[in-house]
Amino acid sequence: MKKIRQLISALIILVGFTFFFFLSSPEETYAASSSIQNWSLIDSGLHMDWGGSTSYLSYFKSGVNTWNNYIGNKIRHDTDWTIKDVTLSDIYIVNGTNATTYQYGELKFNKYNMDQLSGTRKQNVATHELGHTLGLAHNTSEDIMYKYDTTRTSLSANDKASYDRYFYVITH
Ligand SMILES: [Zn+2]
Repeated sequence: MKKIRQLISALIILVGFTFFFFLSSPEETYAASSSIQNWSLIDSGLHMDWGGSTSYLSYFKSGVNTWNNYIGNKIRHDTDWTIKDVTLSDIYIVNGTNATTYQYGELKFNKYNMDQLSGTRKQNVATHELGHTLGLAHNTSEDIMYKYDTTRTSLSANDKASYDRYFYVITH
C-alpha cells in the first residue's frame, strides 16, 4: 500500500513538472535570439499604417511585402479611414545615418547616404526601419536588424523571433 502511495505521489509530481515545462517553454524559445524595443508604431488594432512620401518608395514597398508575408498583412497604406501610424519623408543631413524611425511616428530617409547605396542596400535599410516600427531592436550582423546596412533583404530567424516576441508582449 505504501509503495502504491509513493508511486502515485511520484506520478503527480511528474505530471506537475510536465505542465510547468509546457507553460514556461514559449518564452524560453524566444529568449536566445530576439531583441525588442519598449515601443513600436503598431496601433491598437494591431496594424501599422503608413503614409507620407519618399523617393525610396519602391524599396519601402518591397520591405512592406517582406514583413507582410511573415506577419499577415498588418502593414497597410494609410487611407481616409485609417489613422496614420508612421509618416515617411526624406531629409538631407551630412552624417553617418541612412534613416531613422522616431517613436512619435516619423520615418526619415537621409538622401545624403541613401543615394550612395545600391538598390539591395536601399531595400535593406527600408526593411530594417520597418522592423523598428514593429518593435524590433538591433540584433546580430546576420539579421535585418543589424545596426549597419547590409545586402540582406529577407528576414532571419532572429528577426522573426523578435517580431513574435514583441507581438506576444503587446497582446498578453
Ligand atoms: Zn536601426
